[in-house]
Amino acid sequence: MSTSASGKALIIGGSLGGLFMATLLRASGWEVDVYERSAAELDSRGGGIVLQPDVLQALRYAGIRPSHALGVMSRERLYLRRDGSIAHQQLMPQMQTSWNTLYNTLMAGFPEARYHRGAELVELTQHEQRVSARFADGREAEGDLLIGADGAGSTVRHLVLPGMQPSYSGYVVWRGLIEERQLPESAAYLLRENFVFQQDPQSLMLEYMVPGLDGSVADQQRRYNWLWYLKAAKGAQLDGVLTDRDGVRRNHSVPPGSLAPERDAWLRDMAQQKLNPALRSLVELTDDIFVQAIQDFQVPKMVFNRVLLTGDAAFVPRPHTAGSTAKAAANALALVQALKNGGDLDAALLVWQQRQLLEGARMSDWGMEMGNRIMGIAQSA
Ligand SMILES: Cc1cc2nc3c(=O)[nH]c(=O)nc-3n(C[C@H](O)[C@H](O)[C@H](O)COP(=O)(O)OP(=O)(O)OC[C@H]3O[C@@H](n4cnc5c(N)ncnc54)[C@H](O)[C@@H]3O)c2cc1C
Repeated sequence: MSTSASGKALIIGGSLGGLFMATLLRASGWEVDVYERSAAELDSRGGGIVLQPDVLQALRYAGIRPSHALGVMSRERLYLRRDGSIAHQQLMPQMQTSWNTLYNTLMAGFPEARYHRGAELVELTQHEQRVSARFADGREAEGDLLIGADGAGSTVRHLVLPGMQPSYSGYVVWRGLIEERQLPESAAYLLRENFVFQQDPQSLMLEYMVPGLDGSVADQQRRYNWLWYLKAAKGAQLDGVLTDRDGVRRNHSVPPGSLAPERDAWLRDMAQQKLNPALRSLVELTDDIFVQAIQDFQVPKMVFNRVLLTGDAAFVPRPHTAGSTAKAAANALALVQALKNGGDLDAALLVWQQRQLLEGARMSDWGMEMGNRIMGIAQSA
C-alpha cells in the first residue's frame, strides 16, 4: 500500500488546469513534472476569465503572491437595447482577469526545468502502483500518478475512456479584444469598468475589461474583451464558420489571425445590423476576430487507478458558468486536501473523485440549461 503524502506526479498538459495541479501538488511535497504538447510558448492573446474565489485560494495554497492586482473590477451590470438605451442596470462588483495573466502568474511559481515543452503524450501504461508515459518524440517518464490536464480533446481521456467525445451545442462564440485607449469616449463612458450585455433572441453579446497583455491593470493599459454568442447549425453553416483563411476546417476553433476574410466581413456586417453603437464599436475596432464552437462534455469517472482527469479533460462547462478555470483550480485544491493526511493513496483518490464528479456534473448541467435558454434552444429530455 502506498501513501498519499508525497510521491511523483506526471501532469499532461501545461495550461491552467495542469499548472494548478502542478503548483499545488508541489507545494504539498510532491515531485512534479509537467508535459506540454506545444513546443512554443502558449499564448491566447489574453482572452478574458472571470476571477473566481477558487482561483485565488489555489494561488494562496501554492504560495504564489502576485505583486499587483490580477484583474480589473467591474462595478455594474448594464443590459443595453439595440438603440443603446439602458434596459436594466444593477450594481454587481466582480473582477475579471485574462488567460495570459493567470498563466504567467502560475508559471512564475513553477520551476522552468520541470515544465517540458514539445512533449505530446501518445501512450500510457499502468503498472501495479506506477504509471509510465511515452511521448511522441520518444521521451518516457514514470510516476505514482499521471494527471490528464490536456483539455477538451484530451489524449489521456481517449486512452482511458476510448470513444467519448464532446458534443456540439448548436452555437459558437465570436471573440475579440481591443486596447482600452482605442475606444472612443462615446462608447467608453458606458463600457469602461462595467459588465455590459445585449441580449436578443438567439444572440448574446457581452463585454468586460481585462488586464493588458503584459498583465497591467493601470488606466489606459487595459483591454476590452468581448464575446458574441450566435447560432451556427451543425453541417454546412458550422463548417463555414470553422474553415480558416487557408481553407482548413478546424476542429473547434479558429484562433486570432486565422479567420477567413469572408467570415470576418460577415460578422462585421452583422454587428452593423444588430448591435448597439457602443458594443458595435468593439467589433469594428478589433483587428483579429476569433471564434470557438461551444461544446458539452461530462465524464462518468475521473480516477482510473493511478490516472486522473482534471479541468476540461473531465468536464467542459458552457462559458456562461464562468467556471472552467475555477473548476480546474477547485479540482487541484480538493486533490491536495484529499492527499494531505498521508493515508492510502487509492482510497484518497476515490474520495477526491466523488465530490469532483458531483460538482463537475452540476456545473455542466447548469451551463447547458442556461446556455440553451439564452440561445432559445429547446432542452432535450
Ligand atoms: C492557449 C490557450 C488559451 C486559452 N485562452 C482562454 C481564454 O482566453 N479564456 C478562457 O476562458 N479560456 C481559455 N482557455 C481555456 C482554459 O484554459 C480552460 O477552459 C480552463 O482553464 C481549463 O483548462 P485546462 O488546462 O483543463 O485545459 P486547456 O486550457 O484546454 O489546456 C490543455 C493543454 O493540454 C495540452 N495538450 C493537449 N493534448 C496534449 C497531449 N497529448 N500531450 C501533452 N499536452 C497536451 C494543450 O496544448 C493545452 O496546453 C485557453 C486554453 C489554452 C490552451
